[in-house]
Amino acid sequence: MSRQDSSSFSRCLSGGQLLELDACTQCGECLKYCPVQEVTGDRSVSPPEKIRNFKDFIKKTGVLRQWLFGKGRIDEKLLQDFTKAVFECTTCGACGEACTVGIHTQRLWPMLRREMVKRGLGPIDQQKEAPEAVSRTGNPYDRPAGDRFSWRPPEVKVAQRANLGYYAGCTGAYDATPMVRGDVQALSRVGEPFTMLPAEEEVCCGFPLFITGQFELLEGLVKKLVEAYAKKGVKTLICSCPCCVNMISRDWPSFYGRRLPFGIMHISQYIDRSFAEGRLSVNRTLDERLIYHDPCYLSRGVGITEEPRRVLERIPGAQLLEFERNRVNSRCCGAGGAARKVFRDNALAIFRLAINEACEKKADRLVLGCPACYSIAGAALEGHDSRGKNGGQLGIVDVMELLAEVF
Ligand code: SF4
Ligand code: SF4
Repeated sequence: MSRQDSSSFSRCLSGGQLLELDACTQCGECLKYCPVQEVTGDRSVSPPEKIRNFKDFIKKTGVLRQWLFGKGRIDEKLLQDFTKAVFECTTCGACGEACTVGIHTQRLWPMLRREMVKRGLGPIDQQKEAPEAVSRTGNPYDRPAGDRFSWRPPEVKVAQRANLGYYAGCTGAYDATPMVRGDVQALSRVGEPFTMLPAEEEVCCGFPLFITGQFELLEGLVKKLVEAYAKKGVKTLICSCPCCVNMISRDWPSFYGRRLPFGIMHISQYIDRSFAEGRLSVNRTLDERLIYHDPCYLSRGVGITEEPRRVLERIPGAQLLEFERNRVNSRCCGAGGAARKVFRDNALAIFRLAINEACEKKADRLVLGCPACYSIAGAALEGHDSRGKNGGQLGIVDVMELLAEVF
C-alpha cells in the first residue's frame, strides 16, 4: 500500500477519537508527564505535536479537500518522522491522565499506529517480526511452544478442567519467569483448583500485535484461546500481565465478535479477595522497606491500584513506601508499547529514574507487577549504582514472587 494512499488518515479512528483530536487545545500540560520526552528531550513524541501533525494529515486526505483541490501530498520526511514518534511512544497513557480535556491517549495512539501500518510506514525494526514469530511458535519471542511452562514448579497441581483458569502470557512465560512462578504458587496456596491450557495451546493474547497496529492474526488467536478456555469449563480467567488483562477485557470481545463466555480477573484482585475471605495467610515476617511501582496498563489501563498494595500490606513487618508519582499518575517503566526492543536506551534511562527514586527513599526492594517492567528492570540495574537501605543493592521483585517467599 502506498504511503501517499488517498484514503483518509481518519479511517482507523472512532467518531469519539476524531472529536478528541479536535479537542486538543495544544496547552502542553501533558508534556510534563511524558517519559520519552523527559529522557530524550525530543518534542516530536509529545501529544500536541502528534495530534497537530495527524490532524494535518487528515485535512490533506479529506474527501472534500480532494474534491475541491485534488489529492494533497504529504512530505515523506514528515511522515517518517511522525511514524518514528508514534512507535517511540510507550503508550503509557500518562499524557492522557494529565490531559486538560480528557483525551484517552492510551487508546488513541494504537489507532494512529494502525494507520501508519496500513500505509506501510510502521512498525519499526524488530516490532515487524512479531506476526511471523507468533504464527510460527505462538509467541512474539519466537521461542519453542513446548518450553512455555518450563518454570512451573512440579508440586503445583493444574486441574484438567476447572471454573478458574490461569493464563501466563508470553513475557511472563519466557522472560519474567519468577513472576508467573509466584502466580501459580499463590494460586496453589489458596487451594481452589485451577486449570491451564497445554503449553502448545496457550498462544499470545494478541497485545504485541494490537499495540503495533498489526491486526491480521488477532481474530484467529482470540477465537482459539476463548474456545479452548470455554472447553475447559473456565468461568473466570486469571492473569497477572497488565497488558494481557487489558487486551482480554477490552479488546477480545470485539475480535471474538460477542461477549466472552468467562470473566477476567487480575491476579492481585483474586489474591486480595482470598485474603479477605480467610482463604490465605502469611506465615513469615519481612523486615523490609518496599516501594511499589504501578504498571501503566494496570493503573491507567484498568484502574487496579489498591489490590496489589493491600496484598503487600498483608506481609507482617513490611513497610510500604510510595513513589512521588503513584497510582494512576505513576511513572512509566519505559518498556511498554513494544518500544523496549527498538528504543532500548530510552527504556533503560526511564527505568533508572524509578531506581533513583527508590534508592533516595531507601527502599530495600522495588516491587513490580508487570513482566515488561520486570524484564527492563534487571537490565536497568546492571552497572547502575543503586544503593537502598544500609547501602545494599536495591532488589527487584514481583508482588506474587514476594508473597510466595513469605508463605
Ligand atoms: S503515552 Fe506516554 S510515552 Fe506516549 S506520549 Fe503519552 S506520556 Fe509520552
Ligand atoms: S494536555 Fe491534552 S489538550 Fe493539552 S496539549 Fe496535551 S493532549 Fe492537548
